[in-house]
Amino acid sequence: MTGDISQFLEKVRTRNAGEKEFLQAVTEVAESIVPFVNSVPEYRDAKILERIVEPERVIIFRVPWLNDKGEVEVNRGFRVQMNSSIGPYKGGLRFHPSVTLSVLKFLAFEQVFKNSLTGLPMGGGKGGSDFDPKGRSDNEVMKFCQSFMTELYRHVGADIDIPAGDIGVGKREIGYLFGQYKRIKGEFNGVLTGKGYEWGGSLIRPEATGYGLVYFAEEILKTNGDSLVGKKVVISGSGNVAQYAAEKCISRGAMVLTMSDSEGFIYDPSGIDQEKLDYIIRLKNVERKRIKEYANKYKCEFVPGERPWGIKCDIALPNATQNELDGNDAMLLVKNGCTCVAEGANMPCTPEAVSVFHKARIFYAPGKAANAGGVAVSGLEMSQNSQRYSWTRDEVDNKLKDIMREIHKICVRYGREKDGHINYEKGANIGGFVKVADAMLAQGVV
Ligand code: NDP
Repeated sequence: MTGDISQFLEKVRTRNAGEKEFLQAVTEVAESIVPFVNSVPEYRDAKILERIVEPERVIIFRVPWLNDKGEVEVNRGFRVQMNSSIGPYKGGLRFHPSVTLSVLKFLAFEQVFKNSLTGLPMGGGKGGSDFDPKGRSDNEVMKFCQSFMTELYRHVGADIDIPAGDIGVGKREIGYLFGQYKRIKGEFNGVLTGKGYEWGGSLIRPEATGYGLVYFAEEILKTNGDSLVGKKVVISGSGNVAQYAAEKCISRGAMVLTMSDSEGFIYDPSGIDQEKLDYIIRLKNVERKRIKEYANKYKCEFVPGERPWGIKCDIALPNATQNELDGNDAMLLVKNGCTCVAEGANMPCTPEAVSVFHKARIFYAPGKAANAGGVAVSGLEMSQNSQRYSWTRDEVDNKLKDIMREIHKICVRYGREKDGHINYEKGANIGGFVKVADAMLAQGVV
């Protein structure tokens, strides 16, 4: 690490002491961005980097609500408004017991770069709560969402800050949040994305992150004269991103071998086909049960408490959560012949894992590029809401493909190394940074 990078990081560490995930995300970006910033005196003198790591605003609030037994429960709510230089704050809400300020600052920071890469006018933000919807009745989830929005509504708006879903926040939660916002404000507008199609949502939004991830992986393979046909794919997670990534892989002729949840993973050597995937989708979205049920039904292996990275594959798609793939997992993947890792989740690979991929010269696509399809279609949902109009499925899907192709081009432009290898991490960091930095320069010291 050069002196400039370590000095910069030292200040960030002091100011954000103990915020492990946020510091991890900033360190990863700093390693490619600091040398670049130092080569552009305007960025360096305007302290763009020092400003970009400082949220514009952080809101923390109490969320009291009554459970089904009539008891009072108290959770903590957050919204991190990170950067609004290229558009209103945009980023999801996460409901999970692991949510902390550090986790949301890391996600909001990543979101700034990701949203910039989409080419759409969206700033970066993220929010959520340590509330766990798992095992709660619909009534409890509704009560919680209503209380959460009763504070959040003052800080968001269709031209101010537009939240969406993330872990633990799907169509059901967005519905309850939207209902409460509308009730308080008396306005029907595009304050949230990920809405149901009948009430202002966009076609392809539920599919967008998973589909976009696979479109991005296809671009990587295409650059190397290859395709997904016949490829063995290992997927973690069984939520929104994992489900649609699996669906697109299957339809493109790849073989999906694994999916997982927080209890372990299933390994189906004969491949998860569309019919089996439909079962998983019903299991997770309707019955809200555990992935191990799949192993009972289809007579395959369930590996409790483990992640699927030891299974031999060509492509790995970590789609569950941050830091779910470590250095040892990365070594196993490389040893077993994996040539491409594309992140559907945000920061699922630890720094040690990323370093193993770089050394092995395999393709590693960071989440801020590879999973940008979700927020891209959220941006398209905002456009449709403003026009009071809905585009067809094909129109949205084609726009999503174009956006993922364009992000891939940006990564290649900024990430090609001397030996021709494409460093997607560097490409995404610099490519995402430039537009935000230029807007910040133009808008003065604010
Ligand atoms: P979901 O809540 O729909 O699914 C999350 C999946 O990951 C579930 O299978 C869940 O298992 C598993 N999981 C969650 N936490 C852990 C954990 N600590 N350990 C092991 N497994 C875990 O979320 P999404 O699919 O929406 O999000 C997944 C990832 O993708 C996140 O990193 C998110 O930030 C990222 N992302 C999502 C986007 C979107 O559009 N939804 C957009 C861009 C990125 P279980 O059911 O047991 O909890």
